[in-house]
Amino acid sequence: MKDERQPSNASAPSRAVVIGSGFGGLAAAVRLRARGYDVTVLERLDRAGGRGRSFVQDGFTFDSGPTIVTAPFLFEELWQLCGRRFSDDIDLRALDPYYRIVFDDGGHFDAFADDAAMQREVARIAPDDLEGYDRFMQHSERLFRIGFEKFGHVPIDSLGQMVSMVPDLVRARADRSVHAVVSDYVKHPYLRFALSYHPLFIGGNPFRASSIYCMISYFERHWGVHYAMGGMGALVNGLVGLIEGQGSTIRTNAEVAEVTVANGRATGVRLASGEVIAADIVVSNADTATTYQKLLAGAPRKRWTDSKLDRASYSMSCFVWYFGTKRQYPDVPHHTILVGERYREHIADIFDRKVLAEDFSLYLYRPTATDPSLAPDGCDSFYALSPVPHLDSGVDWSTRAEPYRAAIERQLSQTLLPGLADEIATSRLFTPRDFQDVLLSRKGAAFGIEPVLTQSAWFRPHNKSEDIDGLYLVGAGTHPGAGVPTVLSSARVLDVVVPDPMSTAARVAV
Ligand SMILES: Cc1cc2nc3c(=O)[nH]c(=O)nc-3n(C[C@H](O)[C@H](O)[C@H](O)COP(=O)(O)OP(=O)(O)OC[C@H]3O[C@@H](n4cnc5c(N)ncnc54)[C@H](O)[C@@H]3O)c2cc1C
Repeated sequence: MKDERQPSNASAPSRAVVIGSGFGGLAAAVRLRARGYDVTVLERLDRAGGRGRSFVQDGFTFDSGPTIVTAPFLFEELWQLCGRRFSDDIDLRALDPYYRIVFDDGGHFDAFADDAAMQREVARIAPDDLEGYDRFMQHSERLFRIGFEKFGHVPIDSLGQMVSMVPDLVRARADRSVHAVVSDYVKHPYLRFALSYHPLFIGGNPFRASSIYCMISYFERHWGVHYAMGGMGALVNGLVGLIEGQGSTIRTNAEVAEVTVANGRATGVRLASGEVIAADIVVSNADTATTYQKLLAGAPRKRWTDSKLDRASYSMSCFVWYFGTKRQYPDVPHHTILVGERYREHIADIFDRKVLAEDFSLYLYRPTATDPSLAPDGCDSFYALSPVPHLDSGVDWSTRAEPYRAAIERQLSQTLLPGLADEIATSRLFTPRDFQDVLLSRKGAAFGIEPVLTQSAWFRPHNKSEDIDGLYLVGAGTHPGAGVPTVLSSARVLDVVVPDPMSTAARVAV
């Protein structure tokens, strides 16, 4: 019988194991194979995609997590690496307007793709803020050039690199929060919200996330907001097709229990089933805290020790209610954000006080506005997302989930979806407990380690592990952070930090 623990010899392609099949893991698999590695992806769930996986229930298709596609070039590159065209597999549609924000007083703000339409919308709300809005967008572009173009695709794994960022960060006033900086430019509360809420998309608190995240407004403007027909599942299936077409293997129902280590170097993984798979490099797309604390529990670690990870601050979690309706709600846009009356206090409940509030701000997703194929004829597929504290709240979701869902249903009935209770055809919940138990996320955080300045760039777990040779990290918990484009960028960073395959094999064999 072949001994799987033997390192590969120098003439064979080096073996890479990728733990997890979120967008970061799938993109890493494509890139490593394109470099010449022999790649196996191991996923503990029964399907690929991680937070981006989709599911079908009673004839309705649901995207479980991410819904907004931006920076499509990051996907296109992966198709190009396989000698294929993205547009041959994926039907990407640009949305315009991008989304509607509905405020508690009944007013709304639509974010448009077109500059002139956006300026008209700003002028409709607050003509006095038009000039400030224009200046803010210029500021957002400057931050984008720094945060995304300059530092978003390179490893920040030495203190020297971090120090080289400092002048840019100082000029950008990265020590201030997104909301504080936006408030310097515009006065109207609708605009302050519309230009500052974006950190919530990546698990950050707009009142303390670094103002570098003001770049997201320009990010959206630059590439647009898109939808892949068929939902996020179409993108996941497209990537799975690429990976299999490259000759790599994706194994589902394959939970990694341990990264095996010898002499400070990763040698492969041990599955929960007991099977051992040898590898020359291991790439973890699993939650970073879980990777270090559980998968490397026995390995000596100097930087990401258990106590350091216990002290880290983790992003908020989400309560997600997926539901299908027997009728359609044609007036409800593809993306709607409903802002609660107590927005600022509510954010403090989530991030600081860690209590489950009685009221909420919601994100309502209705993909059938663009893509009727996600529901049976005459029906709609929805999800409602409520940001909630992670599991340090102590909330017992086994008893609180249903009353919380019912409260969301009442709120939606009174606002956008009249008569909702009688129209529900199918329903499923995903709570912070599920983020912990299903996705193995520390504290049930939906976006990993919180994106604050002191936990970003060099301060975040590096893409090339500081503790274990031959171990690399991709995904939300490493540099540059959470969000689909961001985790695709983390896989791009691998191209810089992972050695060429033969040199790894040669080094291991010596
Ligand atoms: C509700 C929600 C809405 C969001 N909306 C957006 C959006 O609109 N736009 C956007 O850009 N971003 C959005 N995000 C953020 C974005 O979805 C995530 O940051 C991103 O998808 C995370 O990708 P990842 O590569 O880190 O992997 P993940 O999606 O976290 O996947 C990790 C995978 O690893 C697997 N795994 C874990 N441990 C093991 C193990 N031991 N063995 C084997 N497999 C393991 C897990 O099962 C999982 O499949 C949203 C997130 C959530 C939760």
